[in-house]
Amino acid sequence: MWCSTDLCNGLYAGAVVVGDLGPQKVAVLGATGSIGSSTLDVLSRNASCFEATLLAANRSVESMLSLCHQFRPAFAYLADAESNAQLAHALASTETQVLVSEQELCDCIASDQIDIVMAAIVGAAGLQSTLAAARAGKKILLANKESLVMAGALLMQAVEQSGATLLPIDSEHNAIFQCLEANERAIPSKDGVESIILTASGGPFRTWSAVDIERATPAQAIAHPNWSMGHKISVDSASLMNKGLELIEASWLFSMPAEKIEVVVHPQSIIHSMVRFVDGSVLAQMGNPDMRTPIAYGLAWPERIDSGVQALDFLSVGALTFEEADLTRFPCLRLAIESASEGGTASAVCNAANEIAVQAFLDHQIQFGDIPRVVDSTLSDVTSAEPTSLDVVLLQDEKARTVAREYVERFKAKV
Ligand code: NAD
Ligand code: MG
Repeated sequence: MWCSTDLCNGLYAGAVVVGDLGPQKVAVLGATGSIGSSTLDVLSRNASCFEATLLAANRSVESMLSLCHQFRPAFAYLADAESNAQLAHALASTETQVLVSEQELCDCIASDQIDIVMAAIVGAAGLQSTLAAARAGKKILLANKESLVMAGALLMQAVEQSGATLLPIDSEHNAIFQCLEANERAIPSKDGVESIILTASGGPFRTWSAVDIERATPAQAIAHPNWSMGHKISVDSASLMNKGLELIEASWLFSMPAEKIEVVVHPQSIIHSMVRFVDGSVLAQMGNPDMRTPIAYGLAWPERIDSGVQALDFLSVGALTFEEADLTRFPCLRLAIESASEGGTASAVCNAANEIAVQAFLDHQIQFGDIPRVVDSTLSDVTSAEPTSLDVVLLQDEKARTVAREYVERFKAKV
């Protein structure tokens, strides 16, 4: 394993205490998930530089116990109260302290016990802890795109005020970050940037007819051709809602208006995204589709460390191809873009309605084709507000969930 002296001494920007010679203390939020386990894999490969100090997840006591035995974190937390009580009981005689509430989790994240926060809780549930990390000026590795979609203005403001370091982990945004960073090393401004090009695999239904997409099953929707991910983001990738959420995410992260963000379907998922410059140049970041690459990049930034990802073999990839995204067969992409243009809390409403619809689809309550119907109807019914505070955003999120649940009930009858 390679580890630079600078990295271990913590000589990079952000929340790191200069002169701290010990490993960086990492909070892995969403530790039992797909990003969580990839993160823990990269941490294990670079154990002299990083330690898993806090592990948080939702409800699986068994998975969390097994991680606690393996990583011996100082702190652990499960959001489900009953599961958390069981976890505390099981860990009573160990060195791991179980945090008792989301507030305690946020306080721990904000304390000097933590240097780096991997924000990888799925959905709106990740907003409070991500905001806590941002307000406390931490180095944040942001996988939880939903927090930016819901509360982009508040989160970016918190980052700016506290001086937190926000590093995108979503592969597209990490790619753009790398392309912009390469440009900024020579020219310290974004003036020469023409647009951002988000690549999309197209998901499992890329070549399917509208009729077949309408009736696709959960098993078909979560069978992503290139990436291994959690169920919610897999369904979002199948509907292209994921690309819509990513467009909103990119807009906040890189201060780019939605009109300057292009979406191109690239079925091989080798180019993770690109930046187009005014002189005709396009920079792309490439790699095998494995989230350990952006995770390792975020952990070590601005250094590079081993991620365990295989070297990209261009000869076995063969061709890189590109197609237009079809907004008719994939209306979720259009709905997300429209919510971004509307502004205010429309994106938060879009996100909340989508979360309710996706769960109902995964629970076999509605059809795949009903997901955009639930989102569209909810967006029409819930008027957008100015996202002046977290309370306003959470209220709109709750309103949207209530309305979306009513539409789910209506569509349920047909299934
Ligand atoms: P996942 O379903 O595999 O894991 C989600 C994790 O969140 C689990 O550990 C779960 O226990 C935890 N969780 C859920 N609700 C929680 C709560 N209330 N409190 C605490 N923990 C909670 O999902 P994933 O694929 O790892 O995705 C995580 C996030 O990363 C999502 O926002 C997703 O959009 C984003 N992301 C994932 C990938 C990927 O390749 N998986 C790529 C880019 C971005
Ligand atoms: Mg992505």
